[in-house]
Amino acid sequence: MAEQFEKYGFPDGKRYNSFVGYFKRKYGERLQKIVLDAGFTCPNRDGKVGRGGCTYCDNAAFHPSYSTAGKSLHQQMDEGIEFHKVRYRTTEHYLAYFQSFSNTYAPLERLRELYEEALTHPQVVGIVIGTRPDCVDEQKLDYLADLAHGRVLKGWSRHLMERVPEHDDTTVTQTTEQVRTAPIVIVEYGIESCYDATLQRINRGHDFETARRAVQMTAARGIDVGAHFILGLPGETRQMMLDSCTLINEMPLRSVKFHQLQIVKGTKMEKEFAERPEDFERFSLEEYLDFFVEMLELLRPDLFIERFVGEVPPRFVNETPWGLIRNVELLRLLEKRLEERGTWQGRLLEDNR
Ligand code: SF4
Repeated sequence: MAEQFEKYGFPDGKRYNSFVGYFKRKYGERLQKIVLDAGFTCPNRDGKVGRGGCTYCDNAAFHPSYSTAGKSLHQQMDEGIEFHKVRYRTTEHYLAYFQSFSNTYAPLERLRELYEEALTHPQVVGIVIGTRPDCVDEQKLDYLADLAHGRVLKGWSRHLMERVPEHDDTTVTQTTEQVRTAPIVIVEYGIESCYDATLQRINRGHDFETARRAVQMTAARGIDVGAHFILGLPGETRQMMLDSCTLINEMPLRSVKFHQLQIVKGTKMEKEFAERPEDFERFSLEEYLDFFVEMLELLRPDLFIERFVGEVPPRFVNETPWGLIRNVELLRLLEKRLEERGTWQGRLLEDNR
């Protein structure tokens, strides 16, 4: 067992494939995401797919104060950089994170304008695009692939340090300055659940097959793909959530984000929870840590774990059952729990081989 743990060689001495520090390891420096609101809407709100949106959704709960659609992208970038400088003083390069609503839900020409405008900011080295799986098509993905492979922005360049392996042994690296002539491009899909019954119940307006297809179409073009899932949606048992790991592993994803369900005030889900609390798996912090360790054991080891909890600001929720505990502390508790249980990401997959 211990040998297998060594073999995976998770970064920073961790027992799971943490995304924190990924850019630092790859580029020798931290790349900070700056959340942007580019004025997109959502087809699940404007009537194209549905009205009223997903039952848990209140977009205001998920984006910071500096990002508002009335401001230009550069102004949001500049204010976001100022905001993050307090914590990360040495950060020099940023990723423009198109996060609010569905960020591929517009004609291709409009998308081009917005993405390329963000990439003119001198400190921006790439874009991260959060969207719904039913808001992409071949044309949009072809464009993103061209952008990511340097076929769109001729003459665009940014100096970045890059760590390159010295030998086959990827743990021995040297850092050299590289000139990137193509931006980093990452697409993040909100998948939320692998079960169609859940997706219907939360009024997502798309099924799991749509999500799987979007991930495949994106990865097939050489674009990095991430996905977001919510743990604790109504009707899902813990075993169902654990079983989802097989489907998650089968998709060509590079990274995953998980959030425990947080019931935001004023949403349809708040009402549903009040009426049928027995349909919801609720986790105490201790239970969630144990449960997430079980998830990790079933997730393939090369999948980057970008998040395992969500942090909705307290003013948006009725209760904060875990207290006001910060993400960094939760990460520490997760590592401790993995160590206590003598386990690591993908361990059960290895046992079954
Ligand atoms: S797709 Fe996203 S923005 Fe649209 S209603 Fe659902 S959670 Fe909200």
